[in-house]
Amino acid sequence: MTSERVGLGWDLHRLAEGRPLILGGVTIPYEKGLLGHSDADALAHAVTDALLGACGLPDIGECFPDTDPAYEGADSLALLARTKDMAREAGYAVVNADAVVVAQRPKLSPYKKEMAARLAAALDVPAERVNVKAKTAEGLGPEGEGLAISAQAIVFVTKL
Ligand code: MG
Repeated sequence: MTSERVGLGWDLHRLAEGRPLILGGVTIPYEKGLLGHSDADALAHAVTDALLGACGLPDIGECFPDTDPAYEGADSLALLARTKDMAREAGYAVVNADAVVVAQRPKLSPYKKEMAARLAAALDVPAERVNVKAKTAEGLGPEGEGLAISAQAIVFVTKL
């Protein structure tokens, strides 16, 4: 039995008009937002799934079903904080998290630090343990064509 484990997460949400754009718990000014049952925070969802995976827990769709009215419009950072509690109950503490958000627009670099700080607060770790990177998709694919925003994350945990 090893004392350290790693988990991988990925998520994508469609961009739609009339929705706020929320990434890493930060509301980013843009003409469109992400569509979903919850607040559709693709970055928070990727980190959540990475943490669940690291702890050997069921995936985000199983833990927080999008068919459950309880999660309609849900604050994904609050769900991430709950996931951190589930991880602790399973005997794991977060060491660090790294993530990349793929969006053609808007420009996300001004928000990276704040997104990392909010994710870190939800994970109950110091801000420097969470890193958020942003990339465009060179105009290719759903992200590149401005139809969607996706995020990938990796979370490293250690036995408490
Ligand atoms: Mg999602």
